[in-house]
Amino acid sequence: MTARVLVVEDIPANRKLLEVKLTAEYFDVVTAANGHEALTIAETTPCDIILLDVMMPGMDGFETCRRLKKSPQVHHVPVVMVTALDQPGDRLKGLEAGADDFITKPFDDTALIARVRSLSRLKLAMDELRMRAAGGQQLGFGDPLAVGIEVNGEDGRVLLVEDRETSAERIVEYLSGHHAVETETRPEQALFRIADGGFDVVVISLDLDGFDALRLCSQMRSLERTRTMPIVLLTHPEAKGRVMRGLDIGVNDYIQRPVDRNELLARIRTQVKRKRYSDRLRDNVELSVTMALTDPLTGLHNRRYLEAHLEMLVSRSQTRGQALSAMILDIDHFKAINDTYGHKVGDRVLTEFADRVRKSIRGIDLACRFGGEEFVVIMPETPETLAIRVGERIRRAIAEAPFRIDDLSGEIEITVSIGVAAYTLTDNTPDNILRRADQALYAAKREGRNRVVSQAA
Ligand code: GH3
Ligand code: MG
Ligand code: MG
Repeated sequence: MTARVLVVEDIPANRKLLEVKLTAEYFDVVTAANGHEALTIAETTPCDIILLDVMMPGMDGFETCRRLKKSPQVHHVPVVMVTALDQPGDRLKGLEAGADDFITKPFDDTALIARVRSLSRLKLAMDELRMRAAGGQQLGFGDPLAVGIEVNGEDGRVLLVEDRETSAERIVEYLSGHHAVETETRPEQALFRIADGGFDVVVISLDLDGFDALRLCSQMRSLERTRTMPIVLLTHPEAKGRVMRGLDIGVNDYIQRPVDRNELLARIRTQVKRKRYSDRLRDNVELSVTMALTDPLTGLHNRRYLEAHLEMLVSRSQTRGQALSAMILDIDHFKAINDTYGHKVGDRVLTEFADRVRKSIRGIDLACRFGGEEFVVIMPETPETLAIRVGERIRRAIAEAPFRIDDLSGEIEITVSIGVAAYTLTDNTPDNILRRADQALYAAKREGRNRVVSQAA
């Protein structure tokens, strides 16, 4: 996906230059000639990153940045301040105005593209998280996805791989108060420490004595556990070729020596933020997979999960020549429970019912909520006679002890009707097995409920 860059620059020639460079790197570029125009464009055209010149007549870059960061439509878009090399004070002012990063004029192409790439990746990760959170809310998942979307980039854990003591001390001092920094002076040890986890970003010196820092970077990128860990290189102007190589193999950003404190803080903050966003994204994927396959009320698998797995279970018993049985359970007169005690109590009955079923079956059996007050249990390696015995055990587990519901004085008598069907050589598709179990269930209801009936092929 191409990121859209808004270039804000008052001098037409500079504007054009930036536009050409960024377009050559396949960014989609829009331009503004002053702060007011920038605000209007940013609020009407979705941008992924804003490159903002500091020195502009009228509203300067700092003021523009402050206003961009106050706008509800724009405040999450990363802003890169374009400052003059000889004005280091501008960086601090930019930070205070809410800028996310800096780049100095005259432009170094590598730096320009590295920064724009790094920040647009962060922006895309944030967008994806927002989108999923919105989707989750629409599906009724609500809070779990939306919580803490506003990730901050402070209080990170940083590993500094640097064998020069004075340099290491300076970096630690710059970052202290913002992040917890650990230093590793032996590069051979770094990979192990990084893989052991817990860090948000790794800062690696490109000038390690007798050790190729880029090798460490490429090892990190090939190892599952360190693949997504942000890497920032400490470099110097003569090392441009190696920095390019680094960016090619997946280094996220770099800082030139002598290190500027504000620049360092801004860059580290961006990477910590990105790491946290991508971690959260990954957690959310796992969470939504779980949610997609689990019934939220009872914690049992849902129908979708059953349908995906029954096919596999049936074909496995076919190839292995093993038995397999299914049962459908339907709570008797459940509507009356809702009508008498209310829907909430009805829900509690369903949870308690699910717990009792769970306790009556084996670990390899698959229990799921099929819908409403209907449940299905699939029992691998179980012939019909045994399945009827399991059904009988469940029936008793429900009927023998009345259900106690919190906030409700008294108890509720619950019974269940169960239909059983076994896999056979002649009638062996998942649909057919469930259809026979359903026919058995109807027979159980007809015959007076609170009973187990099986249906042969
Ligand atoms: P039968 O013995 O014939 O099965 O009678 P029944 O009342 O159990 O069957 P019926 O299918 O007529 O009613 C099922 C009721 O289950 C209707 C519906 O309101 C209720 N129900 C379905 N899903 C839920 C749920 O998630 N929570 C609650 N509380 N009730 C539910
Ligand atoms: Mg029922
Ligand atoms: Mg029913």
